[in-house]
Amino acid sequence: MESINPEHRHCSHIFLRFLSAAAAIIILSGCCAAAPQHTVSQVSTIDALLAGVYRGHVPLRHLLAMGDTGIGTFDNLDGEMIIMNGKVYQIKADGKVYLPDLDINTPFAAVVNFKADKTFALPPGTDFKGVTAVIDKEAACGNLFCAIVIHGTFSKMKTRSVPAQQEPFKPLAEVTKNQPVFNLNNVSGTVIGFRLPPFVRGINVPGYHLHFLSDDLKSGGHILDFELTGGTAEINICDKFFMLLPGNEKMFGSVDLSKDRSAELNKAEK
Ligand SMILES: [Zn+2]
Repeated sequence: MESINPEHRHCSHIFLRFLSAAAAIIILSGCCAAAPQHTVSQVSTIDALLAGVYRGHVPLRHLLAMGDTGIGTFDNLDGEMIIMNGKVYQIKADGKVYLPDLDINTPFAAVVNFKADKTFALPPGTDFKGVTAVIDKEAACGNLFCAIVIHGTFSKMKTRSVPAQQEPFKPLAEVTKNQPVFNLNNVSGTVIGFRLPPFVRGINVPGYHLHFLSDDLKSGGHILDFELTGGTAEINICDKFFMLLPGNEKMFGSVDLSKDRSAELNKAEK
C-alpha cells in the first residue's frame, strides 16, 4: 500500500492541485488526452542536487503520472534514472540496470509525456557534439524546452553512475570525483534527455543532459560521450514547465541556493 509520509504530504497537495489544473486545461481545450502535453515537469532544482539535497520527496509513481519519458536520480543519489515508455530504470553504481520500487522517492527528475514533433535520421559516425549540432538545427528555437529520444547503435558509449550516499551528504561535485565510468562498445539502445535554454541555470542543466539505456537492459547511465553508428532522433518541443519543490524537506529549506553553481555543475555533469 502506498504511504504518504509527512515529508511529502505538502508536495502531494501541490501535485494534486497541479493535476486538477492540468485536468481543467484539458477540459477547457476540449482535448481528449489524459496527461499534459508539451510540458516539462520537474522535481526540485539542479542547484539543490549540487548542494547535496539527495533526500527524495516525490514517489516514482507520482513522477510517472506527470510523464512517461525522462531522466533523474533516486533517493540518496542511488544511481541514474531513465524513464522510457512509462517505465523507470535505475542504473546503479555497479553498472547494472534495476527496476526500482515505485514507492521510492526521487530528489531530482524531469519528465514529459513524450510525443515526437519531429523525427530525423542522424548521420553515421556522428559524435556527441555532432548530434547536438543536428538537433540544434532541427529544434531551432533554443529558448524552448526540447525533450530528446534517440534510438541507435553506438560504436562507443561512455556513461557514468553515482553511488548511494549517506548523511551528512557531500556536494555532487565531490561525489562525482570518484564516479564509476562505463565504456560500452558496439551497443544499441536509447538515449533520453533534454536540451534546455540558458535561462534554466540554477533550476536545471542548460544545454544537453542525456542518459542511456541499452536495448538488452543491461547497461546505461549518465552520458559523458558517445559515437553513433546510426540512429534516429525524435524531439518534443515543450513550451510549458511545471516544478514540484520539496515543501517540507528540511535540508531544502536551509540550503543556500543564492550562489552561482555553474562551475560545480560543469564538474558534476562531465
Ligand atoms: Zn544525468
